[in-house]
Amino acid sequence: MGRAQTYDTRPMPDDGSKLADVDVLADAGAQVGLVVPVQGLERLAPQLASTAGTADARIAFRRERGHVVAKVEASADLLLRCQRCLAPFTMKVAGGSEVALVGSEAEVDGVPEEFETACCPDGRIRLRELVEEELLLALPAAPMHRDGECGGASDGVIPPVEAAPTQRPFAALGEMLGGSRRN
Ligand SMILES: [Zn+2]
Repeated sequence: MGRAQTYDTRPMPDDGSKLADVDVLADAGAQVGLVVPVQGLERLAPQLASTAGTADARIAFRRERGHVVAKVEASADLLLRCQRCLAPFTMKVAGGSEVALVGSEAEVDGVPEEFETACCPDGRIRLRELVEEELLLALPAAPMHRDGECGGASDGVIPPVEAAPTQRPFAALGEMLGGSRRN
């Protein structure tokens, strides 16, 4: 009673899931900070041991030589599965590039070589797609622990992958039969 309430006045971080108008962003020279749930990155998710966590990104927009260019920097602590010992491990994955946002395939030919391209139909794109692309580019093809950090791999012992619930159909059948016998 009578106590002043404190409010967190920071704006909600943008998760990049809304369609953004890239011309508006370029004309404003916008710099957008994003916190993107990894779970929403559908192309990245199959490569991960878990989709927990978020990716951080900054995207700066400008217009250059007739194109909308987005300078994208993205990073995330991703839970990957080691391709040597199959145990999950966390790897900091970070990447950045300058991406020309083109409205059509035909426009790709006119993009200067130093830019990546991303298709942006009707000038609109979900910014998380740019973040996902950077992370996919930065992800190693065969993620592994550093040398010597695989648990037990040197002995050829492979730790168990998620234990599936044990199916015991015959035990259940035995209980059923036992039950009927008691009747
Ligand atoms: Zn390993």
